Amino acid sequence: SAPFVIIGAGQAAAQAAVSLRAEGYGGEIVMIGDETHLPYQRPPLSKAFLAGEMSADRLELKAPNFYPDSGIDVRLGTRAVRLLPAAKAVEIDGGIRIAYERALIATGTRARALPVPGADLEGVFSIRSIDDVARFRAVAQPGAKLVIVGGGYIGLEVAAKANRIGLDVTVVEGQPRVLARVACETISRYATDLQLAHGVRVLTSMGVSAITGTERVTGVELVTGEVLPADLVLAAVGAVPNLELAADASLAIENGIRVDAQARTSDPSIYAVGDVASFPSGLYGRRIRLESVQNAIDQAKAAAKAMLEGAVTYDPVPWFWSDQYDTKLQIAGLLDGFDRTECEGDVAAGRFCVRYFASERLIAVCSVNDPKSHMLARRALAAPLAQGSAA
Ligand code: FAD
Repeated sequence: SAPFVIIGAGQAAAQAAVSLRAEGYGGEIVMIGDETHLPYQRPPLSKAFLAGEMSADRLELKAPNFYPDSGIDVRLGTRAVRLLPAAKAVEIDGGIRIAYERALIATGTRARALPVPGADLEGVFSIRSIDDVARFRAVAQPGAKLVIVGGGYIGLEVAAKANRIGLDVTVVEGQPRVLARVACETISRYATDLQLAHGVRVLTSMGVSAITGTERVTGVELVTGEVLPADLVLAAVGAVPNLELAADASLAIENGIRVDAQARTSDPSIYAVGDVASFPSGLYGRRIRLESVQNAIDQAKAAAKAMLEGAVTYDPVPWFWSDQYDTKLQIAGLLDGFDRTECEGDVAAGRFCVRYFASERLIAVCSVNDPKSHMLARRALAAPLAQGSAA
């Protein structure tokens, strides 16, 4: 019969291939990736790898020989351009069609472009891939002025590492505080103070109206009219799911490719996992789309089982981490919609955790240099799931 075709060759794709073999699937697996690198982990791209503290081969999720040894046909530098559900085929560059018995979409996200004039000037970057980091590092000389637009996790992580390699860094955030979407005020203030203590400037409630320059970037124009001089600009304003293949094939879309708890799309032969997929969370009572390693790995494992007709329900406690300077931030659960917080530990000493509640129910815990609280939180948040399965 036709192979299982995995579209994308990132974190979730690699895990799906590994899990299909582990689950005993002996058929053909084809993996199609438009990058020229074997599947790799992205978190170090804004952390150790950005600062040159980690080599590229250490990013690889599996050693190169794993794929041929496991009979996984990885086609790199190859783009899936069309999904043809009626023909059960994927069209790749050059109009070539690959028939599938089951397809798995793991195309991830791409960095959102800055929605202002000048965003395409040379010297404006985003960091999503190894190649992005290579381009960034080639021009990130000590003393260069870097303006980071966006004070989310990636923006703040890059600020920390850029500061370490000697760049002069300014973070510009449109919201009144950094990490506004993903953390409470205590964490935001802590993260801001950490940057300030290292000499990084942080501007909040500040819009950007244009990137200035003729060929190369020379500055970032703020809504106040002030222009911050810049040799480099990092766009760190979020990610957009790569769902065009699915949308063009008329698969259901709902803030990502709509899948069920078995990672199955609206087409019974097509599955989707990772950053690109939105799934029903029983734990949070709504549909969610996560951009995390946890989700890429665990949902891919679930999808592999489901593709082989195994019984599985994907309903995870989401978790995430971020490293900034010597601070490890860990988040368990989803904290949007909280109405009360509790802080425990010593904020001044940089070791504490914040618990988030909605209607007196614990929904998330953010830990700062406090891995024990993080692990306990994951267990506490999973309790309703354990009860659900026991009932
Ligand atoms: P990806 O890993 O993005 O893989 C998708 C792949 O599909 C890409 O290679 C893409 O080029 C390819 N592709 C897309 N369209 C096509 C097509 N049509 N044809 C062929 N190939 C295609 N998560 C954490 O939990 N903790 C962290 O600290 C953390 N830090 C991060 C730092 C950075 C800089 C970035 C970018 C991400 C970070 N993440 C972190 C998020 C995490 O890396 C992602 O959630 C994870 O990689 C998602 O896996 P995925 O397989 O869904 O997508």
